[in-house]
Amino acid sequence: MNVELQQKIEQLLPWVDRPARYIGGEFNSVIKEPAGKLRFALTFPDVYEIGQSHMGLVILYHLLNEQEWIWCERAFLPWVDMEQSMRREEIPWFSLESCTPLKDMDVLGFSLPYEMLYTNVLNGLDLAGIPIHRQDREEEDPIIIAGGPATYNPEPVADFIDIFVIGEAEELVLELCQIVHRQDLTRNQKLELLSRVPGLYSPATVEVRRRADGSIESFDSQVPLPVMKRIIGDVDQAFFPTKPLVPFLQTVHDRANLEVHRGCVHSCRYCQAGMLYRPQREKSLETLTRQGTELVKNTGMNEVGLSSLNTPDHTQLVPLIDNLNKELKDQKVSIGLPSLRVDSFSVGLADSLNKAKKTQITLAPEAGSQRLRDIINKNITEEQILNTVKSVLDAGWRELKLYFMIGLPGETDDDILEMADLFGKIKSLSRGYPGRPLFITTTLSSFVPKPHTPFQFVAQFPKEVLEERIRILRKRVDPNRVKLRWRDFPLGEMEAAFSLGGRELGPVIERAWQLGCKFDGWTDHFKYDLWVQAFQDCGVDVSGLCYRDKTDETVFPWEVVSCGVEKDFLWRDLQAAWDSKSTPNCFFDKCSACGVSADFTC
Ligand code: SF4
Repeated sequence: MNVELQQKIEQLLPWVDRPARYIGGEFNSVIKEPAGKLRFALTFPDVYEIGQSHMGLVILYHLLNEQEWIWCERAFLPWVDMEQSMRREEIPWFSLESCTPLKDMDVLGFSLPYEMLYTNVLNGLDLAGIPIHRQDREEEDPIIIAGGPATYNPEPVADFIDIFVIGEAEELVLELCQIVHRQDLTRNQKLELLSRVPGLYSPATVEVRRRADGSIESFDSQVPLPVMKRIIGDVDQAFFPTKPLVPFLQTVHDRANLEVHRGCVHSCRYCQAGMLYRPQREKSLETLTRQGTELVKNTGMNEVGLSSLNTPDHTQLVPLIDNLNKELKDQKVSIGLPSLRVDSFSVGLADSLNKAKKTQITLAPEAGSQRLRDIINKNITEEQILNTVKSVLDAGWRELKLYFMIGLPGETDDDILEMADLFGKIKSLSRGYPGRPLFITTTLSSFVPKPHTPFQFVAQFPKEVLEERIRILRKRVDPNRVKLRWRDFPLGEMEAAFSLGGRELGPVIERAWQLGCKFDGWTDHFKYDLWVQAFQDCGVDVSGLCYRDKTDETVFPWEVVSCGVEKDFLWRDLQAAWDSKSTPNCFFDKCSACGVSADFTC
């Protein structure tokens, strides 16, 4: 423990919001004797409540600490009040377990689930006293790594990260640690060795060759490209922490989370996670029953969340719920389903799990018209949506939350009018039911084209078009019956830019951070005008990134890495979208030859 730094930190705590964010010491957190150990800091570039809820971070924390020769600690980005105080008192960014300055670690690993965290990465490095550019780092600096879904396009942050971990990190991170722990190598020699490990991407080994118009022509690389993701083949045997630490603060997912399977094969064409995590791999009923029971016994939590991209897909879900109810009947534990499909089976399950508490139920039809649902491969009809709502009403819910997207590829004003009509049909359906009238809250998120999806080739609609569509919708919807919420469209534009752009965005991120941008994913902290200025100052055209269609000949920045799904398949699937043709669920139905089986067992 760095007692001197700890005392300085403690003096700041009475003056900042939620001081428990900065104290560590939670039940099941890990303290070790540091001598001779590899020092690893797992960092999440947002506040504690968000980062500590992240399943990947929890798994890696305990997996790394299982190794006697590694001490893994955590660090979350201080909120603005704490950061101000730390900068004033010259306190560097520190680890929660031992108050060690992160600059003194061997490895600093950023978890990057989404793009709007990039300025926080720079802010964190700067607060830690580590050079933000990888080229300026010296022998004593930690090796800066990053992993998570956003790193499937590593190029916007290629100037700042030494090594990207592509895919599921459980095996890969240990291979990385073994190299970093070697005392006979210099920092550069370690980086050179790491660049040759399958699944690790070192941006220093790649030069991007561009045409006169700025588009990418090819990559000159010292290593074979693309870097293929790594996955855990047998998730049933994979490490899973059944003694996770128990936060003092209420976190975003304040429950014991049990991962039931990886992957989702519904092939929704807008969904990046569905492509990245293929193939689908289930844990067995026996493993899940044991892990769920141990989780509760070791944490005292009173809710188990069965988590995955699409939990109702698990083939043993009903027996699993029965088993957990049996095993945990004395502990009064509730079981939660964080994801629900739009079908009566899922609603029935949710009903059986929430007999006493019928607050709000969430469904995600995503698009209001059948034409648009076919384009996105949602594979549900209006009749199925209405039948599901009927099940919701039969079960006694009177508050319905609906998720839709706006600006989906091929969308027209007519699709928006059909969405309004769908609200009307749902309301009519609810009229015959006793009790409170049905209240509908609808959240509209703007469509963002994501790398490695069929829609990576499709332009985003300009935000002015989306604003007009919201006006159309508002005119048709009775605000007393349907509450509409939508996310900032300028934020969606920036998300698209950082999803689709390449190394030209490094200077933009740096400029935006210098201008004061941070916590950009928080709507009240997102400063669009400063981002516009940063793009202008760096001479980068946002509209060229977001608002232009691409072809199968376009070389994308993220082609340096691969999730196994081939570009040919994505292009074919896009043509199927325009023809309103369905792509089947390949776990229950038939393989669409997406390319994943060439490298992994499906
Ligand atoms: S190769 Fe076939 S079975 Fe495997 S993930 Fe792709 S579509 Fe599914």
